Amino acid sequence: AKEQGKNRFHFYSRALDNDVKRHYRIERALKEALADERFFLLFQPQIALRDGDVTGVEALLRIDERVMGRMSPAEFIPVAEESDLILKIGKWVFEACCRQIAAWRKREGIHDLTVAVNLSRRQLMDEGWAHFVAETLQTYEIDPGRIEFEITETTFVHIRKRGYETIKRLQALGCRFSIDDFGTGYSSLANLKQFTVDKLKIDKSFIDEIVENDSDRAIVRASVALAHALGLSVIAEGVESEKQKRILAQMGCDEIQGYLFSRPVKPEEIPPLLSR
Ligand code: C2E
Ligand code: CA
Ligand code: CA
Ligand code: CA
Repeated sequence: AKEQGKNRFHFYSRALDNDVKRHYRIERALKEALADERFFLLFQPQIALRDGDVTGVEALLRIDERVMGRMSPAEFIPVAEESDLILKIGKWVFEACCRQIAAWRKREGIHDLTVAVNLSRRQLMDEGWAHFVAETLQTYEIDPGRIEFEITETTFVHIRKRGYETIKRLQALGCRFSIDDFGTGYSSLANLKQFTVDKLKIDKSFIDEIVENDSDRAIVRASVALAHALGLSVIAEGVESEKQKRILAQMGCDEIQGYLFSRPVKPEEIPPLLSR
């Protein structure tokens, strides 16, 4: 028995060791990507169900495969979030978004596209963030109303005073906010009332089986009703089929985002999608 315990200890410590190694490997790759400009953004359209128009795009971060093969942000963002690396990466993302908005305006005459930018908790807690946003918007001459920050419901639930102040400062500039991954973060009505956000983004996990699963459908229907009662608009993420789209339209959902309309694409692929 003693021998077995010892083996188990070795097993656990080796697993831990691998986790630590993986963590450092990703961290090193992120630093390299920052230094060598190996990040880039893809953009995924958001479509109004009322008329089928593209109203906005969500910026989604990618790392050049040459750095460490194909790696999803679902894998590297959590590593970045464990340190101040997320602040540097977040700044890179926001500036790249502003540069892109300016380029679309100059080359394509696009003025009314909203760009949704994902924000991490650490960015909200950073005293310099709101100032950085204000300065960058000014540098690229961007209307703050074109920016919508997506904050996950889980982050909203755990927000502290300083995060709340950052949100208020960004709202005072004219930036908009949405609650991302709604339905996964156990927020209460009281919690929602406290923040004046503009949009609820219903998590993909409820959309996946909306056609066949009665309770998922009920949850989405209730979320749409709740959002509208609070004066917010609703977008559903991860919409992949016409059937899902039809059910969401019947429920009065305002917008959809997902592979059905388009995957995240390179910036030059966005203008043709706008006039489709
Ligand atoms: P998210 O904010 O929930 O983004 C939606 C994810 O769902 C994206 O994955 C998108 O490509 C994917 N998606 C969209 N439509 C569909 C669909 O119809 N089917 C399927 N199967 N997937 C769909 P992605 O780009 O891999 O991003 C993963 C997560 O990484 C994001 O989840 C977000 O939490 C995080 N992330 C990405 N970019 C950034 C960033 O710039 N900053 C921060 N803080 N987080 C980011
Ligand atoms: Ca998002
Ligand atoms: Ca989301
Ligand atoms: Ca999600």
